[in-house]
Amino acid sequence: MIVGRGPVGATLANLLGLCGVRTLVLEREARTYHLPRAVHFDDECMRVFQTIGLANAILPHVILSPGMLFLDAGGRMLLDWSRPQTLTPMGWNLSYRFHQPDLEDVLIHGLARWPHVTLRNRCDVFALDQDETGVRVRYEDLSNGTLGEVRAGYVVGCDGARSLVRRFIGSGMDDLGFHERWLVIDVLLKRDRDDLGDYSIQHCDPRRPATYVRGTGTRRRWEITVLPDEDSQDVAQPAKVWELLSRWITPDDADIERAAVYTFHSVIAQQWRGGRLLLAGDSAHQTPRSPWC
Ligand SMILES: Cc1cc2nc3c(=O)[nH]c(=O)nc-3n(C[C@H](O)[C@H](O)[C@H](O)COP(=O)(O)OP(=O)(O)OC[C@H]3O[C@@H](n4cnc5c(N)ncnc54)[C@H](O)[C@@H]3O)c2cc1C
Repeated sequence: MIVGRGPVGATLANLLGLCGVRTLVLEREARTYHLPRAVHFDDECMRVFQTIGLANAILPHVILSPGMLFLDAGGRMLLDWSRPQTLTPMGWNLSYRFHQPDLEDVLIHGLARWPHVTLRNRCDVFALDQDETGVRVRYEDLSNGTLGEVRAGYVVGCDGARSLVRRFIGSGMDDLGFHERWLVIDVLLKRDRDDLGDYSIQHCDPRRPATYVRGTGTRRRWEITVLPDEDSQDVAQPAKVWELLSRWITPDDADIERAAVYTFHSVIAQQWRGGRLLLAGDSAHQTPRSPWC
């Protein structure tokens, strides 16, 4: 049984489907989380998607990344980190840009190929009791408020950063010391801004480091450091967001899709397995802004 059908749970369910393992996926939400999160994955991820037979379905949703430029506060080049556009030993390109909800939808649709894999949305798992022969999984069906339970041989917690499965394993987290607030702004362009370019750009301004990422379609992202004395709510207000973006873009160019402050962590679960309970994905490790890469 898998708790959570984010990108990791949905990928694992496809892998288990491929292996012929009878699998139940319980997911709290009704549908894919619609806002952008991850924007980049690498050749190893694509190799996994190829293994589960979904690479061709994913390709129309990705663009190749030419690499990353590091500029100083005056806009001068510090480092040109262009990425090779040739195939790696994985048989794929090094760097892909994507929109996470698009990818998750492909992974979820892929589950329909496996008659022995069942996905149940709106099921909130709240208790796991394991014994020598299996795990009793209790959940609430949020569509009607009833409680249910199933018995599973093993439970994999693909249930994200606040993992319930991790709590039942009793694992603490090793803190690698990175905890930074970044304002993440996703915009949808209303007119061509080819001058923004296809490279990701690290603006290495010591006063306020920032990152630009070209997304798929009309999506463009800026991630901007939140200063220690700034309030997370205030800095995400539209007037402040446009002020911070004014060096690059104005409201005439784009609409804001989402602006929110995220605190990125670098933490690893001390235990990835406790008996019949296992962890995968953000439940096991979180790295600042690029765990798939
Ligand atoms: C702004 C931002 C930018 C990012 N950029 C990148 C990037 O460029 N590259 C990259 O690799 N990563 C990036 N990430 C991280 C990436 O989004 C996550 O690593 C990824 O979503 C983790 O996938 P997951 O399946 O482990 O967990 P999640 O995506 O968190 O999915 C967990 C699922 O479990 C469900 N769930 C939780 N608890 C229960 C329960 N008790 N019962 C039932 N269901 C439950 C949740 O509803 C959810 O659907 C970014 C994240 C953010 C926020």
